[in-house]
Amino acid sequence: MTGSATEKLALAAIFAIAVIAPFLGAYYLTFVFTMLIAYVVAQSWDWLHGEAGYVNLGHYIYFGIGAYVFSLGYINELPVVVCFAFAALFTAGVGAILSYPLFRLRGDYFAFATLALLPLFDLLAANLKGITKGTDGIPLPPKGVIVMGVDVKVFSYYVALAVCVAAFFLTIWLARNKFGFALKAIRNDEQAAEICGIRIFPVKLKTMALGATFAALAGACYPWAYRYIDPTTVFGLNVALIPIAMALLGGTGLLWGALIGTILLGTMQQMLLVQISGFQATIVGIVTLLIGRYMPGGLLRARIVRGTPGLGALGKEHHERLGVRPAVGAAGEALAIERRTIDPDRTILTCNGVTMAFGGNIAVNNVTLEVKEGEILGLIGPNGSGKTTLFNLISKIYEPVAGEIRFDGHLLNGLRRDTVSHVGIGRTYQIPRPFSDLTVQENIAIPLMFRGDGGLARDAALAEAIKFARFAGLEARLFDRADALNLQQRKALEFARALACRPKLLLVDEVASGLTPAEVRAFVDHIREMRDKYGVTVIWVEHIISALSQVVDRLVVLEQGSVIADGPLREVMADERVLRTYFGGSLKEHA
Ligand code: ADP
Ligand code: MG
Repeated sequence: MTGSATEKLALAAIFAIAVIAPFLGAYYLTFVFTMLIAYVVAQSWDWLHGEAGYVNLGHYIYFGIGAYVFSLGYINELPVVVCFAFAALFTAGVGAILSYPLFRLRGDYFAFATLALLPLFDLLAANLKGITKGTDGIPLPPKGVIVMGVDVKVFSYYVALAVCVAAFFLTIWLARNKFGFALKAIRNDEQAAEICGIRIFPVKLKTMALGATFAALAGACYPWAYRYIDPTTVFGLNVALIPIAMALLGGTGLLWGALIGTILLGTMQQMLLVQISGFQATIVGIVTLLIGRYMPGGLLRARIVRGTPGLGALGKEHHERLGVRPAVGAAGEALAIERRTIDPDRTILTCNGVTMAFGGNIAVNNVTLEVKEGEILGLIGPNGSGKTTLFNLISKIYEPVAGEIRFDGHLLNGLRRDTVSHVGIGRTYQIPRPFSDLTVQENIAIPLMFRGDGGLARDAALAEAIKFARFAGLEARLFDRADALNLQQRKALEFARALACRPKLLLVDEVASGLTPAEVRAFVDHIREMRDKYGVTVIWVEHIISALSQVVDRLVVLEQGSVIADGPLREVMADERVLRTYFGGSLKEHA
């Protein structure tokens, strides 16, 4: 960890207070215990939210399930360690199973579906009387209130503290690790993450299960300490949303967000509990509203906090912590793309009768097309003629309604996007889709980390990404966030990221529009270099014919989804129908 002195000091202070709290009396013990548990729930919620961008409003059910499983094991006289293990494993299993239906949903739908889990589990706990004793709740037997000579309240307190420490360090690990980068890519753009080679569902499932495990461990501490559990204490809405409010208050996706949020809101709650207990939920709601309105992104991201010496360190985004600035190599250095030997007679891509329709609109109509290895194919056609859709079909954004696509010995129909990326297809988006809150370097490193052969380690990928950035002319912006780039730079980033997928076939969708003639020339050289030096086959969609004519071997023309011409550049440009439909008569003005 590249923590600053302030951070280490803050951590030591918080830890020290937590360690001595039980010695200050029962009041402080209960007070801090509540916060320890809240922190674990808030932090484990934020792994899915802050890292992957999913709002799981029902996260608290894992706390409840953990508490119930623990209690059931406990009253059946299983050893406490076994009760904890059961609670963690069972709840992780529930999280994994729930992932299947839940991750079919996104955004608000995901949030609402997860919110519904709370009343559902509340109802289950209340009605499965045979197991849970219903609303009467489960009292834990008095036997066991002394653990190894210590009051169980104190003992469970330190167990909860240990879980907190584990959660905190896991957060550091997650933010820096390759797995964490998969989450960050998912948070920014799931489709782009997939075409960079990330298989997203298992990543989301693991994160859900991990979060569930930690919430369950916190949940198990609760009945152990308080010797009682009933449905509303662990599944009630009034308690369930508070840890989420804590994480939001501090700032989600930040190492310190959930911790600071928990301390602040937890303390406030405690004070309110003493004074105006009835208004607690209202006050918490108001605080969250105010934060959302005036400090979006949480307290630690607020300018006033970021600008305060010392405090500012707590609001550092992950890439500010990474501190990876590998030595920059020489210009013109080779990219880590294998040099493939080209067999110009070999067909690498075949589209056979490929058709795609959106409702009644046939965007791609019975397209049959062959591309030879090492070819640079220009694909042109008026706006809306289906060029981008054809790319979307080849890169599996869409599944064709009819026809077959074969690439390098693989039938692409039915394959996942990440597999298609792994078999060697890279693409750019016509409208750039970078991972906005990641740096240029990280954007390019992502496909390097998640390519088919298992990928590079994080630091190696970050170092390698520099070469791609330099190749695409982005060296000066290496450590800037992608959302700070202008359109040209975003297009260059699209290109660099697609190259970093190490494609055998590169699909380039209108990167030259908006570039100056000199920039276009540089781009044409890049395309040529990709083929000549690395053996990459290219299909290039471009409106600027003068750019295409510098480099393409063959031209295919689409009109209303159908191929109307396919042949050497000269021939196609002389074709009657092409001239009429595409160039509106005269070719000269476009050449
Ligand atoms: P081009 O890239 O050649 O300009 P597109 O492939 O983007 O054309 O679009 C081809 C046709 O398909 C257009 O009529 C467009 O409106 C339609 N289309 C493309 N994507 C979608 C979509 N996701 N939903 C509905 N219609 C679409
Ligand atoms: Mg298009």
